[in-house]
This record gives sequence, C-alpha cells and structure tokens, in this order.
Amino acid sequence: MRVLLVGGGGREHALARAIARSPALTRLYAAPGNPGIAEVAQCVDLKADDVAGLVEFARREGIDLVVPGPEAPLVAGLADACAQAGIACAGPSRAAARLEGSKAFTKEIADAAAIPTARWKRFDDRPGAEQEALDWVAQQGAPIVIKADGLAGGKGVVVAQSVAEAQEAVRRLGLPLVIEDCLTGSEVSLFAFCAGEEAVLIGAARDHKRLEDGDRGPNTGGMGAVCPPPGFDRAMQEKALDLTVRPMLREMTKRGTPFRGVIFAGLMLTADGPKLIEYNVRFGDPEAEALLPRLTSDLLPALRDLAGDRLGDTPLAFSDEAAVSLVLAARGYPEAPRKGGVITGLEAAGAVEGVTVFQAGTRLGENGELMADGGRVLTLCAVAPTAEAARARAYEAAGRINWDDKVLRRDIGL
Ligand code: ATP
Repeated sequence: MRVLLVGGGGREHALARAIARSPALTRLYAAPGNPGIAEVAQCVDLKADDVAGLVEFARREGIDLVVPGPEAPLVAGLADACAQAGIACAGPSRAAARLEGSKAFTKEIADAAAIPTARWKRFDDRPGAEQEALDWVAQQGAPIVIKADGLAGGKGVVVAQSVAEAQEAVRRLGLPLVIEDCLTGSEVSLFAFCAGEEAVLIGAARDHKRLEDGDRGPNTGGMGAVCPPPGFDRAMQEKALDLTVRPMLREMTKRGTPFRGVIFAGLMLTADGPKLIEYNVRFGDPEAEALLPRLTSDLLPALRDLAGDRLGDTPLAFSDEAAVSLVLAARGYPEAPRKGGVITGLEAAGAVEGVTVFQAGTRLGENGELMADGGRVLTLCAVAPTAEAARARAYEAAGRINWDDKVLRRDIGL
C-alpha cells in the first residue's frame, strides 16, 4: 500500500512509526513531515492544509490511502477532495468535521442524540445579541463558560469565575458565541475509530494543557499525557463510548453526514457520570504519542478499513502497559518560542527502556545537526508496566536531551 500521511508534528511521527511497521506498506510519504518522520517516510514539501496540492500529489504518485493527522485539512475538505479523486482517506468529510469546527453544531448534535453535556445557549452574530449574551451571563451567574463558535486553537474558551470576567470574555471573543454551564470533575480524552454507526475503542488519556507545573501558566497545545488516566479503566471507557460517541454516530448517519475516522471525545467525569465537552475529529497531540506506542496490532489495515467506511475484522490490540508522553518545548513557548538551538542526545534518550523519541518542531541544520524550529519540539513517550515506572523512564530520557532552550513540566504522570 502506498500511503500519504498529512502533517508534521509529534502526533504524525507517532502515526508514521506505527504505519511504517506494517507489512502491508510499500511506500510512505509525509507532507510536510519533519526530520524524525523522514527516518521512516519520504517527506514532501506540501503544507498540511494545501488540499489541492495534496490531492494532486496523491493522484500523481498513485497513493492508495491518505492518512490525515491534524484537523485543518479535514475542515478544509481533504476527505471530500480525495473522494472526488477516487482516493481513500481515513478521515471525515468536511460536513462531519464540523463536529470539531463548530461548537454550536456539536451541542446541537449532543442534544438531538441525548448525549449528556453542559446546558448551553448560542448567541448568533446579529444586532442586539451581544447585549443578550451579557444579560444572560448576569442572570446565570458564575462560574460560567464562554466559547467562540469556531476553530480558535484552544484560545476561544474562557472558564469565567465571575460575572465581570464572563462579560469581558463576551466582549473580547465577539459573536457568534456559545455560553454554557460550568462542569466540575476531572477531564479525560477518549479515542475511538468510527465508521458510520460503529465505533471501536482505542483508549483514553489525560493531557496537561497548561505550560507550568500544577496546571498553571498559559494554555498550550499540550505538555504531556498519561495513558490510561488513573481512575478511568477500560470498562468505564467502553461505557463512556456508549454514552457519548455511539449516539452521535447514529445522529450523524441519520442526517446523511456519517462520520468516519478517529473521534476524540473530551469528557468531564462529573458526579453524575461522564459529560461531553467537545469532539475533535482526529488524534490528540500529545495523546497520540502516548496511545500509539502501546499498539501491538497492525495499524495500516485498520486505517484502510476506516477509509472504506468499515471497522474490519482484525481488532486493534494494545498492551496493558501505562504510557507517559512528555513534551519538550522551546523557551518562550507558546508566545514566542526560541528557534535555532542545537539539540543532541536523542539516541541516548531513545536508549532508555520503553522510550521512543518523537520529533515535532525540528529541522536539520547545514551540517545535519538537529535544530529547534517550533514551539513543541520533541515528545518523549515512555511505556512501562506502571504509570510510576513510565514517568520515571520519561524523565530519565528527558534528562539525556541536551538543548539550551528545553522547557518541560516536571509533574506529568504524578
Ligand atoms: P482545545 O483546543 O484546547 O481542545 P477548544 O478550544 O476546542 O479546546 P473546549 O475543549 O470546548 O475548547 O474547551 C477548552 C477547555 O475549557 C476544556 O478542555 C475544559 O478544560 C474547559 N471547558 C470547556 N467547557 C467546559 C465546561 N462546560 N465546564 C467546565 N470546563 C469547560
């Protein structure tokens, strides 16, 4: 099988490593890829959201399967363009990717499918709606959650602790908005492969979005993940899948926009059971780097089946071990990451038992040296029989990476 993987972060490096192990693979391309991915794939100089360029490349190179990593190409219609060109794509149509692209759409689907979620109200972009939103917030009181209704890269959500803070957020984010009740509990991310009305569990992870220890500091793309999340075992994950994913799949099918691909359900485990916060229509990053190294079965046939709107006969199998993924970011991240520092020690880090080093924002310098070239630069994944052991291995490996601008959290997996 000739495969084109789309993306160039740590998540895509983890996907590339898993795909490269498949006996069914004949050729792997990655667009744009990164120096780590280049060890197992041929990198192509195309941006991940260049839908026309990707499809043209796939057609020219006789690609059998396109595997999208990030959401941007899906929201931009990559799967639809692939379908038109007769190329299989293991991701959702643009219509189904609205589950990630629009928060109001997700809430509407959740209500229609009786999926537990926070009570919500949408405020459209029309005259007078901002005042209505301000009044609504005053009436509801705090804490309350204000969300911009669109892709905002994690920056469009304010969990306001006071009415004043909520009203400031309403003015700053602008319309359209979704305003919802604040849920309390612990957050987990649930992952499944979906085809039409069917879903099969991949697993769950807990990610850490804040830059600093103790979940403080600015929000980031994610600084580390733990898999499985303590207190959310396989049986609970299966139950949550029944409650928060399968009804959505039936609803999407009923509407003529069936979902295909990886679903990532962000859940709050509340006193009344799991409640849906959001869907993403792809793997999480750094969750993928914690989930995929535990995979013991062949990923590629499963992705090919997904692209054909079926789950296939060979179930995905994972080891029972725990995994911790740890992001090494560049000093200044997320505002202004410092680029250009030289990084060494990857081999030594990868030599720690159970550890895999994934690359994200890296590039090769003139003499072949590895350099930082982004915000999140490396993700280390450690797999071990227990979460404590995985954590110890991840930090042992992190200590072996030499790089002046290295920034990491010290409490992932604690
Ligand atoms: P990201 O890109 O970071 O996944 P997003 O911009 O897509 O986020 P959400 O996932 O909907 O937006 O919200 C971001 C975060 O805000 C959640 O991970 C959660 O911590 C918090 N949050 C969202 N909705 C609620 C809610 N109803 N109650 C409490 N916290 C919430």
